[in-house]
Amino acid sequence: MMDFLTQCRAIIGEPYVLDTPDGMASFLTDQRGRFTGKAQAVLRPGSVEQVATLVRACAEHRVGIVPQGGNTGLVLGSVPDASGAQVVLSLARLNSIRQVDAVNRTMTVDAGCILQHIQEAAAAEGCLFPLSLAAEGSCTIGGNLATNAGGTAVLRYGNTRELCLGLEVVTPQGEIWSGLRGLRKDNTGYDLRDLFIGAEGTLGIITGAVLKLYPQPKASITALAALPSPADAQQLLVLMQDHCGSSLTGFELMSRYCLELVAQQFPQLPRPFTEPHPQYVLLELSSSESEQHAVGLLEHAIGAALERGVINDAVVATSVAQSAGLWQLREHIPLAQAKAGKNIKHDISLPVSRIADFIAATEPLLDAAFPGCQLVCFGHLGDGNLHFNVAPPAGVSNEDFLHNQDEVNRVVYDSVMAFGGSISAEHGIGALKRDELARYKSPVELNMMRAIKAALDPLGIMNPGKIL
Ligand code: FAD
Repeated sequence: MMDFLTQCRAIIGEPYVLDTPDGMASFLTDQRGRFTGKAQAVLRPGSVEQVATLVRACAEHRVGIVPQGGNTGLVLGSVPDASGAQVVLSLARLNSIRQVDAVNRTMTVDAGCILQHIQEAAAAEGCLFPLSLAAEGSCTIGGNLATNAGGTAVLRYGNTRELCLGLEVVTPQGEIWSGLRGLRKDNTGYDLRDLFIGAEGTLGIITGAVLKLYPQPKASITALAALPSPADAQQLLVLMQDHCGSSLTGFELMSRYCLELVAQQFPQLPRPFTEPHPQYVLLELSSSESEQHAVGLLEHAIGAALERGVINDAVVATSVAQSAGLWQLREHIPLAQAKAGKNIKHDISLPVSRIADFIAATEPLLDAAFPGCQLVCFGHLGDGNLHFNVAPPAGVSNEDFLHNQDEVNRVVYDSVMAFGGSISAEHGIGALKRDELARYKSPVELNMMRAIKAALDPLGIMNPGKIL
């Protein structure tokens, strides 16, 4: 049998097989610098056929494959383990927009396309590809699909799953499944596409996708509302949806502590209110008609919310710059947290109707277990998704507090389950939450997942040790 790496070099060419420590370094460490794995090599194929041939070589030599896009994932899914036995297979060279069909409103792309390039290509055709998240300048659509990424436009357009009509996948046997169908209706048996979306590279390698495009909104408008409580935020959501329907495209909750943290770490950013308020909601409305229409809808809804006492106050952005300033407050929360020191993060989801009760029940539990700990709670409330992070009490170092990770997780995740939620809303499971998944998924669900994995990847070479 030909030596494995020699075979890889024969398939994709010497320059695209990286096996020196320097060459591999950036592919082996996760985005937050928490873990550095080891690998036999990083493979950088330049075509779908090369991906398929590499996968056959990996199967022949029983080498585990870690697919990697932009390596921006947050759950240690895109980096190899510490064994040094696996390879990283980077999709970065598969980065062409294959076709735009303006009538079908679809775009067919390679999996390694950077999300921002896809947004720009859609805009060049006068269309919108609505997936948007802070990592969009470096994450790839293959990674977005593999993690079923969410982002800021889920309320109106759904997760990545809802934005995809078809996939092309290299199976763990090295076959190419061409499911690049641009069909909005296709009830021909099991939905294989949906199996690969969100599978985090454990069932196959996504090499191409057909994406849905939408009309560009004519105008969008942003506002920041100040509220007494999360329960009022829930009421505001219902009120806004009743008044504005699908024009409501963003609804982001931020606690007082979050904005105080941003103000401390980034004093140059705007401070829209002179007095602090317990909670804030960033609202975005988009109109397919005109700016006047968007402003009218927003003002009407805000007026009703003020009248009913659901909000204390609101500022409406009157320029693109002001709107960007308000969004910066939301986007700088994770950055402000990072500057203030590491904390214990949770990316959870709940039925929207139970969010306020969940916060009210869980905050005292945390405080009882870790007196004085600080909750950093913000997120896509319109999607029922909270970033529910826990920072140390005053006087306790961030590093010391991290030793409580398991106990903090137990308080938060037990409560999430009690309220009918999920322990991973957006970021997936990867290696980081694998044990938590085993703890919280029912045996029936876990057994079905294991059966699917065993049927599609009997050799267990696709992203070993992730999810299951
Ligand atoms: P990678 O990190 O390379 O990989 C992620 C997973 O997908 C891994 O398991 C990997 O093996 C697998 N994978 C990658 N490519 C393929 C492929 N072609 N075929 C099969 N499997 C593959 N996520 C959200 O959902 N919403 C957010 O708002 C959000 N914001 C973020 C903001 C920042 C600043 C950062 C750093 C991350 C954020 N994320 C968010 C995390 C998010 O999952 C990733 O940014 C993105 O979706 C992953 O894309 P990627 O190309 O970097 O994938």
